[in-house]
Amino acid sequence: MSLPQFELLRPRTIEEAVGNLSQYGNNIRILAGGTDLIPSMKQRLFEPEYVLDLRGIAAMRGIKPNPDGGIEIGALTTLRAIERSDFLCQHYPVLAQAAATVASPVLRNMGTIGGNICLDTRCLWFNQSLTWRKGCGFCIKKDGDLCHVAPGGSKCWAAFSGDTPPALLCLNAEIEVASSAGLRRMPLYDFYTGLGDNYRKLAPNELVTRVFVPASSADYRGVYRKLRVRGSIDYPLAGVAVVMKRSSDGQGAGHIAEARVGITAVNPAPLLVKGASELLAGQPISEELAEAVGDLAAKTAKPLTTSALTPEYRREMIRVFTKRAVLAASNN
Ligand SMILES: Cc1cc2nc3c(=O)[nH]c(=O)nc-3n(C[C@H](O)[C@H](O)[C@H](O)COP(=O)(O)OP(=O)(O)OC[C@H]3O[C@@H](n4cnc5c(N)ncnc54)[C@H](O)[C@@H]3O)c2cc1C
Ligand code: SF4
Repeated sequence: MSLPQFELLRPRTIEEAVGNLSQYGNNIRILAGGTDLIPSMKQRLFEPEYVLDLRGIAAMRGIKPNPDGGIEIGALTTLRAIERSDFLCQHYPVLAQAAATVASPVLRNMGTIGGNICLDTRCLWFNQSLTWRKGCGFCIKKDGDLCHVAPGGSKCWAAFSGDTPPALLCLNAEIEVASSAGLRRMPLYDFYTGLGDNYRKLAPNELVTRVFVPASSADYRGVYRKLRVRGSIDYPLAGVAVVMKRSSDGQGAGHIAEARVGITAVNPAPLLVKGASELLAGQPISEELAEAVGDLAAKTAKPLTTSALTPEYRREMIRVFTKRAVLAASNN
C-alpha cells in the first residue's frame, strides 16, 4: 500500500509547530514516530494535505527528573528510552513496564510517549484498507453513519488501545498542551472523552508537548499485565496497570496503604477503576481482596466486538489480570 500525497513540514521549535497547526487547521496531521500514523495513512484512514513531522524539535525529547522528585518527559521521548531509563525503572516501574510491552523493539525505537497517549482508537471495522471498508460499508468513525459493532446506535465504540496511559493514570500524570495561545496543563484523566471517534480533547491547532509525573507518585510498586494475540508484537486486547504502597507504620507491612488500578483496550478510553483504591486502602493483602478488585475492574470494562478476541474473554481476562497484578504488586 502506498501513501497518499502530502506536503511534509519539519518545524525545529514548538512555536514553529503551533504556527503550522494554526495555519493549516483541519488539513494537517501530526507525526511523531509515525508507527501508527503511517500505516493508517496507507489505509487511507487519513489523507491530510500536510504532515507535521515533530522529530526535529529537540525541546520535546528527554526524561528530566525534577528537584522535587517528580519527572518531566518530553512527548517525543521514545518508548525504548522510557523502558530503559534507570530512573523510571527504579521510581516509576509501572510506566517502564507498560512501555516495554508496546509492539516490538523496532517499533519502540520509533514510537513515542506522546504518540502513545494520542493514539487513535481501534476497531476491526475501521483499521482496514479503503477497499475493505468500502465493501463493508463506511461507519460512523469515518465517512458513514452506521456502526457495525452496535447497529442501531449512534455512538462509536472503537477501543483505546495504548499501553502507557493506564500506567500514567495510576501515577496521576498530567500533560502539557501547546497552541498559538500558549501552554496549558491538564490531568491525563481529563484528556479522553470516552467516545470512540472524537476520542481526545485536543483542538486541531494543539499538540502535546510534555508529560509530568508528580513526586507524590514516586516509589509505588507497579505492575502492568496485558492480553494480546501475538506475544512478540501486538496491541493490547485487555491491559491492567496497578500501583501500590504498603504501609510501614502501625498497621504492619502486610497492609496496603494506597493503590490505584487502571485498565485499557476494553473501553473507548483508558480508565481508572472507580472504587479500587478505597477497596484496597488499609487492608491486608489476600486472594479474596485481589479477586474483589478484579470483579470491580471487570465491571468497569465494556469490551465490544471491536477487537480480535470475544468481549466475554477480554472482560474475563481483565478480571484475571487485575487479580494477578494486585497480588504481584503486593509481592514485588
Ligand atoms: C504492528 C504494530 C503493533 C503495535 N502494538 C502496539 C502495542 O502493543 N501497544 C501500543 O500502545 N501501541 C502499539 N502500536 C501503535 C504504536 O506503535 C504506538 O502506540 C506508538 O507509541 C505510537 O507512537 P508514535 O510516536 O509512533 O505515534 P504516531 O504514529 O506518530 O502518532 C500517533 C497519533 O498520535 C498523534 N500524535 C503523535 N504525537 C503527538 C503529539 N505530541 N501531540 C498531538 N498528537 C500527537 C498523531 O497525529 C497520530 O494521530 C503498534 C503499532 C503497530 C504498527
Ligand atoms: S465501533 Fe462502530 S462506528 Fe466505531 S469504528 Fe467500529 S464499526 Fe465504526
